[in-house]
This record gives sequence, C-alpha cells and structure tokens, in this order.
Amino acid sequence: MAPLAQSVLVTGSNRGIGLELVRQLAEGPDPPQYIFATCRDPEGPGGKTLRDLAAKYPNVRLIQLDAVNLATIKAAVQVVESQLNGRGLNLLINNGAINSHDSLQSVAPQQMLSVFSTNVAGPLQVAKEFLPLLKEAAKEANMEGLSCSKAAIINMSSLGGSIELGFGILQAPMYPYRASKAALNMVTRCLAVELQEVGILCTAIHPGWVKTDMGTEKAPLTVECSVQGILKVLSSLSQATTGAFLDWEGKTLPW
Ligand code: NDP
Repeated sequence: MAPLAQSVLVTGSNRGIGLELVRQLAEGPDPPQYIFATCRDPEGPGGKTLRDLAAKYPNVRLIQLDAVNLATIKAAVQVVESQLNGRGLNLLINNGAINSHDSLQSVAPQQMLSVFSTNVAGPLQVAKEFLPLLKEAAKEANMEGLSCSKAAIINMSSLGGSIELGFGILQAPMYPYRASKAALNMVTRCLAVELQEVGILCTAIHPGWVKTDMGTEKAPLTVECSVQGILKVLSSLSQATTGAFLDWEGKTLPW
C-alpha cells in the first residue's frame, strides 16, 4: 500500500484529532517519510505526548507553529523547507482551531474576531505561506489529476458551520465558532477553484462529533474512529472532490 503522502504537515497536533492524525500516520503500515507535527508550544507541558511520539518515530518532526502568529508560520516554512531538502510538501492539514460557546446574549465583537483570527485567517495564512512548497510537490508529481499524495490542503471544518443544515442552533448557538467554520468553508472553496490549475486539491472535512477537549466526553465518536475515517477519506480524494465539504465517512455535506 502506498503512503497517503510522502510528506504531511498537521497544525494543532499536540492533542485531540491532530495528535491522533500524527499517531495513526506514524504507526500505519506505510507511513509518510516526513510527518511535520506542529503545535503552538512544543516544549510546554501540553506538548509532552507529541514529544514522546516524536522520540519514538524519527519521521515525526516537531515544529512550533501558531496559526495566529505570522512569524512562527514563516519560521515553520523555513524548517520544513530545509528538512525536505528541495522537495515539496504534499499534504497540509489545517486542523488547529478554537471553540467559543457564545450565545446572542454573551457574544462580543472581540470574541468574534479572536475566533475568526484562529479558525479562518490562521488556516488561510498557513496555506498561503506553504503554497510554494505545495506547488513544488504538485510539479514534482508530474501526474494528471488531484490527490493528497500529490498536493493538497485539508481544512478541518464542522457540521456546525453548515448554513443549510443549521444543526442544533438553539441548543448550541456558538455564534463565533459556527460563523468561523462557514467562512473557512468559503476559504476552502476559493482555494480549490484557484489552485486546481496548479495541481493542488483543497477540501473541507467535518471530523464527526468527537471525544476531545473540544468535543467533550459527551461526543459519540472516539478520536481513533474519527481519524481512521478521515484518513480513509483523504486517500480517496480526487479532482471530483476538490472544493467539497465532506464528513469523516466521505458523505457530502450541505454548505
Ligand atoms: P481540541 O480542542 O482537542 O484541540 C485543538 C487543537 O488546536 C489544539 O492542539 C490547540 O493547541 C490547537 N490550536 C488552537 N489554537 C491554535 C493556533 N492559534 N494555532 C495552532 N493550533 C492551535 O480540538 P479537536 O481536536 O476536537 O478539533 C480539531 C479540529 O476539528 C478543529 O478544527 C475543530 O474545529 C474540528 N472539529 C472538532 C469536532 C469535535 O467534535 N471534536 C467537531 C467538528 C469539528 P493548544 O493545545 O496549544 O491549545
């Protein structure tokens, strides 16, 4: 079995879905040659599990990246570029995000802006800065079509961002979070349209409602199960699913 991609970068990979993505990629039967596991504070207490994983698997490279701090994104690009040694980056997974449970009563402009900064501006900036390395990977692949093994940007979205479904709004209004994921979906669609001609796929994925710090213990899905599904979906993506909004089982979701 060929690896999903030779090189993968994951943001927010010190816990939750990001950490499990790194773990399953590293422990899989045909792991990528490079797994760039990025997080805000790799040396801090919250980075311990990821550090242990990197110590066990030499292809897991720990790199600092805070999606709201442009200097750290640029520094991460330099580290990745030097480690890839002239080769491109195949797969960028914009996973890191923050939640906010603000209702109409509690929401304030600063909260909206802070969540947008992390969940929308951050992933877009990360995609923009890594674009030269993604383009390089697409060029090197020298093959028709689009895929995660060639060059791709995956944005971790949420069903909560689906305007058409408007799922559970009264129970969990989450104005900043929902609006941020709807905006991230639009960013994904814009990137998909603009980048398909240079051979880069862009897709938004909803991971399911998952037991993590964000999803809480009430969530029905284990992180292992969600990530197994996500990785299967990623390996199936193609020209037909660039610009799509899919869930962890590959089902198309309404925008
Ligand atoms: P967690 O809250 O468990 O983890 C969030 C991760 O994002 C942490 O690693 C956190 O880092 C990181 N992060 C936060 N801010 C930034 C930033 N500025 N730059 C880089 N990384 C950052 O969330 P999940 O693992 O549950 O969620 C992962 C993704 O899946 C998110 O995009 C989320 O919106 C989406 N999702 C999750 C669902 C669920 O049920 N769990 C449902 C739908 C979507 P740190 O430790 O430093 O805070």
